[in-house]
Amino acid sequence: MIFDLKEVFEREGAAQTVSFQLAISDIELDGAYPFTSPAKVTATAANKTGIVSLSIDTEFEYSRPCDRCMKPLSDILKYSFEHRLITTLCGDDDGDYIETPDYRLELDDLVLSDILLELPLKHLCSDDCKGLCFKCGKDLNEGECSCDKRTIDPRLEVLKQLID
Ligand SMILES: [Zn+2]
Ligand SMILES: [Zn+2]
Repeated sequence: MIFDLKEVFEREGAAQTVSFQLAISDIELDGAYPFTSPAKVTATAANKTGIVSLSIDTEFEYSRPCDRCMKPLSDILKYSFEHRLITTLCGDDDGDYIETPDYRLELDDLVLSDILLELPLKHLCSDDCKGLCFKCGKDLNEGECSCDKRTIDPRLEVLKQLID
């Protein structure tokens, strides 16, 4: 989606909104495709006293297994982003600005990189998820298994065999 910003840049008080769906379901993360719906995107550019800002609201379905117990989880994530738009970069102040020299802004890549930076690093079914037993694979949220989960130092293992 190309956002044409000429009018917004040229007139103080002007604002313009575009809404579109961004196809993100073919994006692979860690060998999976966690985006199970297109992202709904609404972007508004507004000129307030000559300063043009861009607000982005986005909503999409994000499906990933729990990091610990692998239970499939699906959430609707809603994010908002803010950017300042300028036509030319003055000086070496390259802070948080996005340059739009020809008044045209390609929104797809911008929204996508905003989303990828904002995704949760951890994905748990609950904060106290007990995960899976590393020996038998049982979901420990459903109850304990009978595995011996003490980790034994290999040197002690030798001793243990001697004692046995
Ligand atoms: Zn879990
Ligand atoms: Zn077990």
